[in-house]
Amino acid sequence: MQDLVCSEHAEMVQKHLAAHGLPTDTVCYTDNIQSWCAQNEPEIREDNPWRLAKAVYRSDGRRAILLLDPIPAQVVQSQVYQLKLAGWGQAEQLTTEVRFLEHLVLHEIGHFVTDSASDRDADKWAFEEMGIAEPSD
Ligand SMILES: [Zn+2]
Repeated sequence: MQDLVCSEHAEMVQKHLAAHGLPTDTVCYTDNIQSWCAQNEPEIREDNPWRLAKAVYRSDGRRAILLLDPIPAQVVQSQVYQLKLAGWGQAEQLTTEVRFLEHLVLHEIGHFVTDSASDRDADKWAFEEMGIAEPSD
């Protein structure tokens, strides 16, 4: 697996945004989400300097999805592992950087669509959107 340059997959990202009625400027690519928040939306607190992605409401009410760009390959692999540990057998299907990014973006869209802050709800919704069923055993 290679480092994931999220902005190289903007077309795929836009496709998912459009499918859920989100405008094209919803996604902000940044090399540090914590710094992005401090500089652009100081009201939004972010404690994790290594955060990969975050769905936020901006101070003007717009929705935004912040994406770390690039995401190192090792981080992608460890995130997939974390999903498996959390009981998501579907994570076996996230075999390429692009599939991983698709799940990551859908997870963040899922926070808006399901109107839930729960990562479990967002992960479930994202796998369903991708059409990845839970393995039967
Ligand atoms: Zn989440």
